Amino acid sequence: MESLVLERKDELSLRDFPEIARQEETLGPRDVRIKIHTVGICGSDIHYYTHGRIGPFIVNDPMILGHEASGTIIEIGSEVTTLSPGDRVCMEPGIPDPNSKATRLGMYNIDPAVRFWATPPIHGILRPTCVHPEAFTFKLPDNVSFAEAAMVEPLAVGVHAATKARIKPGDIAVVYGAGPIGLVTALAALAAGCARVFVTDIAEKKLEIGAGLSPAITSINVTKQSVAEIVNAATDGWGADVVFEATGSPLAAAQVFEPLCPGGCVVMIGGQPDPIQYDAGAAMVREARVENIFRYAHVFPRCVGMLSSGAIDVKPLITKKFEFKDSIHAFEIAAAAPPADVKMQIELPQ
Ligand SMILES: [Zn+2]
Repeated sequence: MESLVLERKDELSLRDFPEIARQEETLGPRDVRIKIHTVGICGSDIHYYTHGRIGPFIVNDPMILGHEASGTIIEIGSEVTTLSPGDRVCMEPGIPDPNSKATRLGMYNIDPAVRFWATPPIHGILRPTCVHPEAFTFKLPDNVSFAEAAMVEPLAVGVHAATKARIKPGDIAVVYGAGPIGLVTALAALAAGCARVFVTDIAEKKLEIGAGLSPAITSINVTKQSVAEIVNAATDGWGADVVFEATGSPLAAAQVFEPLCPGGCVVMIGGQPDPIQYDAGAAMVREARVENIFRYAHVFPRCVGMLSSGAIDVKPLITKKFEFKDSIHAFEIAAAAPPADVKMQIELPQ
């Protein structure tokens, strides 16, 4: 099965991967077999490529990359009832142990035993087909394209963050970071009822894309402007109800309370590989509520519903498409972090 394989740090190859073909031959009674159509390139895929590890997850053996995917069902297991061959679907990449305590408590995303695509030692899905549980495979309405469906995975992070923030209609939000996750978080915050969202970054082109998503989004270039000053001016000095940290930068994280209103909420989204400075005093005088998120749980159907209804439009975030045969080139471009690109996707031959 020709797959995009990360052989080791800095080395990709497009080659047959017999191990995965053997593994994927077994279709359990509650599994479906999917022909992959579109796969988004995620920051984590790029990080494994350029660093060979993310925190405790280390690439010790060749691993297939990719976890943001859509495709078409080509076969179903004997007990599958909700999906049929020919259905267009998107897939949730993390499969928890159904019997674990975290799963039984409804927090399957933080099950320590979760098996997540393209997180060592679990293979990703930059390959022609995969076998996946029916329970983590979601049917697409006709008006949601494969490209939009491959955006459901990153969008789910933003929707989970907005849910944790407990946004109320009319809230003002700030999103630190105009990368893919920052921008889907801004869209999710608006869909959840925010009146206005301020998006910050240092890359002007990304801010332009962000501001173009909605008249309710205002961009702030932190190299030229102060977030707290702009937010205070827009809120009679009160501050933003919610601040989302989506940069993963310790510098940004150190300032999350500055634009926050008294009683407001900060949601930490960006991954931090090392311990960071945290202004406990600024949090205390605001009685700030701080939430942390790890991936998402139970939000894929909501994301599909919002894409279908038009409540959220992710199409402007998809800035480049590559054919599967050009996957290595796509990763080389993505690794250079082009300032004008938000999400790049790879299309497999059908
Ligand atoms: Zn991702």
